[in-house]
Amino acid sequence: MIDLLIIGSGPAGLAAAIYARRANLETVVAERIYGGTGQVAESSQVDNYPGLPETNGYDLGQKFREHAESLGTEFKDGEAVAFSREGDSWQTTFKSGEVIVSKAVIYAAGAVHRHLNIPGENELAGRGVSYCATCDGAFFRNRTVAVIGGGDTALDDALYLADICSKVYLIHRREEFRGSSRTVARLSQKENVEFVLKAKPGQIEGEDKVTSLMLEDGRTLSVDGVFIAVGMVPVTEPVKDVVKLDENGYIIAGETGKTSAEGFYAAGDARTKALRQVVTAVSDGANAATAAELYIRTCFG
Ligand code: NAP
Repeated sequence: MIDLLIIGSGPAGLAAAIYARRANLETVVAERIYGGTGQVAESSQVDNYPGLPETNGYDLGQKFREHAESLGTEFKDGEAVAFSREGDSWQTTFKSGEVIVSKAVIYAAGAVHRHLNIPGENELAGRGVSYCATCDGAFFRNRTVAVIGGGDTALDDALYLADICSKVYLIHRREEFRGSSRTVARLSQKENVEFVLKAKPGQIEGEDKVTSLMLEDGRTLSVDGVFIAVGMVPVTEPVKDVVKLDENGYIIAGETGKTSAEGFYAAGDARTKALRQVVTAVSDGANAATAAELYIRTCFG
């Protein structure tokens, strides 16, 4: 039995690993994607992590990972699909059938991209429909694209794509943006960015690749790519029977990450909280590892 199993290698999971290893806990980080660092890798620029202005998200994630590795964290690739409490320990079952037994678990599996669920979205995914501008933007050099959403992700994506693409439509369902007014101001100065407000996408069209986007009001925009940035959905399906979730599917847990189940902690975007950012994910990881350490030392000596 190991001391601590951490699910997820984003900023929350990696910060938890750093704190756990510094406390000398035998720690394994399980990750769905080998060598991943979570959503932060998709950010072309993180401008609000204290002390590191205008940092590239990929590089920041790599630094977190290298730090956790340098302290002797063990990584394992595999998707955790079920958790059960057996006596004083937790048994985590992976998709491969493998089981890891641990004294405590920190669940930091984060969230995945929300889909629009409109015709053409699934059919044209990877053929013009994308959920990651920094991953796929370069394929649309000198082309016309649409970005859907009004939060920080959509605004950042539009700004990033404006420097690559000939034209960027930013399509938002309301008149006011949810994301940073500073980024909105920067976008307003870009000649090739056009705001399309109070507009909802109805259908993405194209045979083998995207050719146009039809809005619900009947307007059709000729585009080569559609970048969907309409928020995230927590990855909590595997834990829904072991911990309490709120009505939106987030794990109910306070600052220490303590959930409704003993020895099971939540950190990062999967936890109920007001602000989901790298800085709060990192803070969650530190808090959850500290609480887990106290729990392990108290219960197991
Ligand atoms: P978000 O803040 O939840 O914004 C989602 C956007 O998508 C909202 O504008 C929402 O519209 C729109 N939307 C949702 N469902 C839709 C639908 N079915 N059809 C059309 N539009 C839809 O998500 P996010 O932008 O991914 O950001 C998530 C968190 O990460 C936020 O806390 C954000 O501040 C943070 N973040 C920060 C940075 C940064 O600081 N650089 C970068 C990225 C993300 P409404 O506004 O009408 O609800």
